[in-house]
Amino acid sequence: MKRIFAFALLLLLCLAALVSPTSDHMVLHAQTQTRDVPIIMYHSVLKSKKGQYIVSPDSLKCDLQTLKNLGYQTVFVQDLIDFCNGVATLPEKPVVISFDDGHYNNFTYAYPILDELGCKANLNIVGSYCEFSSSSGDCDNPNYSYLTWQEIKQLHDSGVFEIGNHTYAMHKFKPRYGIAKLPQEDEQTYAANLTKDVLRLENKFATECNFNTNVFAYPFGKYEKTSGEILSNLGFKAFLTCNEGINILTKGDSSALFHLKRINRNGLLSSQQFFKQYGIK
Ligand SMILES: [Zn+2]
Repeated sequence: MKRIFAFALLLLLCLAALVSPTSDHMVLHAQTQTRDVPIIMYHSVLKSKKGQYIVSPDSLKCDLQTLKNLGYQTVFVQDLIDFCNGVATLPEKPVVISFDDGHYNNFTYAYPILDELGCKANLNIVGSYCEFSSSSGDCDNPNYSYLTWQEIKQLHDSGVFEIGNHTYAMHKFKPRYGIAKLPQEDEQTYAANLTKDVLRLENKFATECNFNTNVFAYPFGKYEKTSGEILSNLGFKAFLTCNEGINILTKGDSSALFHLKRINRNGLLSSQQFFKQYGIK
């Protein structure tokens, strides 16, 4: 009789635990921790002109202020990596601000705005452009110059920017379109050529800036079926495409890191038009 009573009590306790709000919440939290993560892609920031790939400093500031007002918090791609690998959490409304190519105007215009508003950004460097700036001395015109290694190091060390690899010399349309495989290349030669180029930039980061990166941005968003595996073997953990959309990331599931979507911030739109068009609210 005692045993039956004890069993009934245990059963009741289990049922109570299952239906209690605390238990529900914990189960939900543990099993379905997902986040919608917009990654907004910028290139140049200029006062003198606007374009599909050029925003004004005022527009950038308005974007960041609007995102803050909507409750978004800027995070690094590294934070997405940690979340997807199950080792860290993310704010309720994360957003990544991503800059491509390494324009000098990111240093002159974007950096002070991000710093003032307490925001973070990802910045993907084309090695050959920055090598030219560093070695030629032609490095301080916001309209066309690229960052020097010293500036890249300063941006990285500030804690405001996370640096990514955008290839050393494959940011071109010819002979290959970005990192596309050439028709005459076999898989092995393709892997060797891609590896050589990407490591050339990593070596520069290590020797000139004293860091390495694990974020890779595909030039023009172009990639092959094998690109992710080749780059993963080199230590890269997250891959930025130009496929448009908002990422849905789940804690502990790293599959989405291979093709992170980004939305190009067309500088011809106002902040309000841009956020409305892509449903960022
Ligand atoms: Zn680019």
